[in-house]
Order: sequence, then structure tokens, then C-alpha cells
Amino acid sequence: MASQCSRCGKPFALMEKIKDWNRTCCTQCLQQIDQILRQWAKVLEATFQREGISSELEQTILTDLTHQNIPISYREQIIKPLRSLRIISEVRWGNITPIRAHALLETNEQAYFEVRATYYKYLKRQTQFVQGVLLGTDRKIAFISSTGKDSNTIRLDNIGVVNFSSSTVQIQTTKGRGGTFQVAEPLYIKTYIETLAKRWKMQILIQREQAGSRLIPDHLRIQVLQKYGNRCAGCGASGEDKGVGLEMDHIIPFSKGGPSTLENLQSLCGPCNKKKSNKL
Ligand SMILES: [Zn+2]
Ligand SMILES: [Zn+2]
Repeated sequence: MASQCSRCGKPFALMEKIKDWNRTCCTQCLQQIDQILRQWAKVLEATFQREGISSELEQTILTDLTHQNIPISYREQIIKPLRSLRIISEVRWGNITPIRAHALLETNEQAYFEVRATYYKYLKRQTQFVQGVLLGTDRKIAFISSTGKDSNTIRLDNIGVVNFSSSTVQIQTTKGRGGTFQVAEPLYIKTYIETLAKRWKMQILIQREQAGSRLIPDHLRIQVLQKYGNRCAGCGASGEDKGVGLEMDHIIPFSKGGPSTLENLQSLCGPCNKKKSNKL
């Protein structure tokens, strides 16, 4: 056993040794450490609720712990929540990256999380606990059970409030079935689901705005050209041939309410486009 405090170097008093044989810090230091950690925990929680934990705040806390000479073994209790709230903050700010999922995805669908989960299947008289995987993509939250039965898909546009407890996330829906899932990191998954739903709603808004504009953004232009194999939808002339320029054409004319969407756009060569507008 140590004979002096590892923080301030003061020799232990007899009573200190008797009270706790394994102690590494004196009573006074322990009180100070406790106070410092408590203060930072308060700051962490309030800042997380208000705006999220930035890397600056993370650095400030780490520097302060070193500065105040907090023994490593005591730092863990603040560093663990700090690290996890820091990651969750980034997710909340929309800084998420796609992952390679094991589950089967739709065309162009992007997965963002895939975690082990237990689905609470509420039956009339009892609750069944179904083991499986919870998947979050840019379109849906899906539970895929290990047996293949009892799967549950929630489209992002139907997601309402998402709650969490110490072991579960509960997804409420505005339409269709929601669900309760037991996961390892409920707050993390809740935040992911909210961010995916928010991004989805933003995307729909942007698409609607775009559809109502005659202007066709580059990415949509590229998609249309891909859809028609870089050819004229009228005569099949290739855009790669000399002298052939492909133009974007609204199948139902924009003036008649035709939107600027992938479905309502086609690529036409100059002559075909002229022929079509003469007919209208
Ligand atoms: Zn001390
Ligand atoms: Zn043509």
C-alpha cells in the first residue's frame, strides 16, 4: 500500500490508512477530485442538451484533468461519457458516414448503422423478444430478425417521436407500426434515427423545390442521361456522336405542370426536341 497521496504527495494519516487500505489519494484530494469531476459532468450534460459537445470542449476538459493532476483511474468516469456524447453530438449535427451493411439494400440505398437488437413484439397477452439486427439507411429503419420472420420496416417519412431508456429505443410513427428495440447504445441509435429522418425530410423539401423549378441541376441531368444511355429518347442518336447535342426535355411540358423530376425528364437531340415543340 502507498504511504503518501499520489496527487499531492502528502503522507497518509493513520486514520486514512485504516479507513481504506487501497487508497492512492488523501481525503482532501479525493474531495477535490470528486468536486472537479462533478462540475465537468454538469457542464457536459448542460452543453450536450443545449448545443452538443465540440472538440474544443473535449480538449478543454482533458487539459483541465491533466492540469488538476487527476489520477488516471479517476478520469475514466468523465472521459467515457465525454467520448460518447462527443460522437453523438457529431451525429446530431449531421456528420454521419455510410457503412457497408450486411443486410440487403435497395438500389442506391445507403446504410448508416447496423447493430444487434432485440425487438419487443407486443402480443395480446405477452411480449415476445425477437433477436436480430436493426438497420438504419437513408430511406428506412428496418429490423431484420435472425430467423427472417418478424421483420419490421419503418419508412423515414413515417417517423415521429423517438424516445430512449437505458436499454431501449422506442420509435413512434405518424403512420404504420413503430417499435421498441433493445440496443447496446440507445441514445446513440436514437440520435442516428432522428438525424436520418431529418435528412430525409430536408431532401424531400429540396426535391419538391427542384421539381417546381424549370432549372435542372447537374446531378439530375446526369441521372437522366444515364437513364437513356446518353442517347436521344426520340431517334436514338448518341450524345457521343459528332454534332449531336442532347437537350433536357420535360415529357409533360413544364408549362403544363410537368415537374423537373427524373420520371418527367428525357434527353432529346436538337432536331427531335424541335419536332416535339412544334407539335405542341
Ligand atoms: Zn492529496
Ligand atoms: Zn433525336
